[in-house]
Amino acid sequence: MSLRIEERKNIQVSTEEITRQRQFLEEVKQINYQKELKTGRKKLYHLVTFGCQMNENDSERLAGFLGEMGYAETENINDSDVIIYNTCCVRENAELKVYGHLGALKHLKEEKPELIIAVCGCMMQQPEVVEHIRKKYRHVDLIFGTHNLFKFPELLYTAISSNSPLVEVWETAGTIAEGMPIERKNGVKAWVTIMYGCNNFCSYCIVPYVRGRERSRSMEDIINEVRMLGQQGYKEIALLGQNVNSYGKDMKDGTSFAKLLYEIDKIEGIERVRFMTSHPKDLSDELIQAMRDCKKVCRHLHLPVQAGSTKVLKEMNRKYTKEQYLDLAARIKNAVPGIALTTDIIVGFPGETEEDFNDTIDVLEKVRFDSAYTFLYSKRTGTPAAKREDQVPEEVKKRRFDRLLEVQNRISREINDGYMGKEVEILVEGLSKNNDETYTGRTSTDKIVHFKGREELIGKLVTVRIEQVQTWSLFGTLIEK
Ligand code: SF4
Repeated sequence: MSLRIEERKNIQVSTEEITRQRQFLEEVKQINYQKELKTGRKKLYHLVTFGCQMNENDSERLAGFLGEMGYAETENINDSDVIIYNTCCVRENAELKVYGHLGALKHLKEEKPELIIAVCGCMMQQPEVVEHIRKKYRHVDLIFGTHNLFKFPELLYTAISSNSPLVEVWETAGTIAEGMPIERKNGVKAWVTIMYGCNNFCSYCIVPYVRGRERSRSMEDIINEVRMLGQQGYKEIALLGQNVNSYGKDMKDGTSFAKLLYEIDKIEGIERVRFMTSHPKDLSDELIQAMRDCKKVCRHLHLPVQAGSTKVLKEMNRKYTKEQYLDLAARIKNAVPGIALTTDIIVGFPGETEEDFNDTIDVLEKVRFDSAYTFLYSKRTGTPAAKREDQVPEEVKKRRFDRLLEVQNRISREINDGYMGKEVEILVEGLSKNNDETYTGRTSTDKIVHFKGREELIGKLVTVRIEQVQTWSLFGTLIEK
């Protein structure tokens, strides 16, 4: 097996480099075109994404490259010429699924030796994972990481033209690559990554080790992208980053996330702006003001608290106390009336006592989140919390988790009950999954609303009167104006 593991530091992704990648893209396109002429069959790819929206956004870039290279997407893995797994390492489950998928592909690769099997994303930034895949899944053709995704055309070209597996993972991130093609999944809402990496090293989290330090895209590049999205008819954008609140800090020229929001608020065509994720310790007064002032910024903020106990928060390295979080939530609610707050919570962090857990419940009751993403703590190798010996027994975690869900579900339902009979403005996103007459949209506060509608309403802001309420969604009737 020929192996190429490259370790690079502070690579500048120049426009020349992007042009070079475009040349590889053309090469693959030509190869595919010639084969299509011979066989009369278009080349197909199958792309599976694990993890967060940032990974989804990376996959949209891979899809952009593949589309320009002449591939079409297929759901049928057996028909594929290229299969890619864009992986996540935040939870063990997702990792195990990737190994399961890779194992199942062995026979397909034997039947179709020309098939290219590629794995990329956060998991590949861990050397032991790469080593494991090289040893156990020798039918994998291409492994690359998060920092060199822009090199995908060159990597794919090399994998196609050589018979040996290729591994190229950069240990450290370079600057940001602009000008890559993109194929967005949704025609109404678009993700825009504004920064990469994280400097925070929360003690349970693997992200800073695999995504590198914070790097912000230039304001100009972001504005241009959003402007183009507005011209293309997108109505909503979600600004993405591991911690959007520290956007611009690395530039050291006064650029800030709040200033970016003010600029984006002026862009024509875009009706709604969302963002995630916000670290509470970096949420400035300037940002609260921007959320209040910017008409297009949605009345919803995802503000992960993770735990309620100040002791646990300290051990998580979150850099805020319970009281500071409560104060922040109150100030946001005061400044932006009607705002919906949602959160992430980890149950059973090492050393969490019953009293600590009660602090988490107390925060739920005091803040009254609209919803919470709740997770049982699970060890991530390589993080400080995984080495601790005072792990909480599974049955205790499970009991606390159930209690937490009970409290949060009650609060979510009570908040949703308040919508009964109200008229709300929603952005229509599309047909509901299980019903071909029911359409789905979201309020500015991120509530899912189902209503009987028509196809031409997709992408429009409409008003719906809420007539039925559930814990996770609302149902109503369209008000024709
Ligand atoms: S802020 Fe903490 S939880 Fe979020 S990505 Fe960074 S280290 Fe992980």
